[in-house]
Amino acid sequence: MAEAHAFRFLGGAICLDLANTLSERWSGTPIERLERYSDLVAWARQGQLISDRQVRELLREAELRPGEAAKVLAGARELRELVYRIFEAMAGGRPPTRTDLEALNGWLPRALAHLQLARSDEGFAWSWREGEGGRPALDCMIWPAVRSAAELLAATATPGQVRVCQADDCAWIFLDTSRNHSRRWCEMSNCGNRAKARRFYRRQQKGER
Ligand SMILES: [Zn+2]
Repeated sequence: MAEAHAFRFLGGAICLDLANTLSERWSGTPIERLERYSDLVAWARQGQLISDRQVRELLREAELRPGEAAKVLAGARELRELVYRIFEAMAGGRPPTRTDLEALNGWLPRALAHLQLARSDEGFAWSWREGEGGRPALDCMIWPAVRSAAELLAATATPGQVRVCQADDCAWIFLDTSRNHSRRWCEMSNCGNRAKARRFYRRQQKGER
């Protein structure tokens, strides 16, 4: 198997990290990071949504049920686009459309039906039921993303908390937790520095310093 892509988790919420699995989305040649079901599993593992054991079980199960796995992948991409539309609207100070809100509400029962309480060291904690009848649920990594989107929308009281990266070719979306809401780039060391380099280059061309 080809080595998995190293996903970035800069969104500040797992739903936004899912939204960012399509890179350079407005460039005309967006980069799809979820090409196969195994990419979705790799993303979920790197995002610490599932364990190594679950990775093995899910990949094995996907081989037995390839049609189902393809459907889950298509669903994950659909959710990704929904999340992007909702929070890009919020980033622009607009509420999501009624259709998109309904679509998110449509995901909720499918995801939250798997939520349960389990004993933890400190008492009780939310966790996810992994599957039915000993078979792993192929879409188990989608549930926390749905929950994250719902919780983020419920918590995003003020526009401006979610932002779209200002680098022209990036379009990643992230939660701006900086104190004065001044974060402009998904990642300073990447998009921020490229933008600065471009500005510097332009100034030099104009003979300024
Ligand atoms: Zn960026």
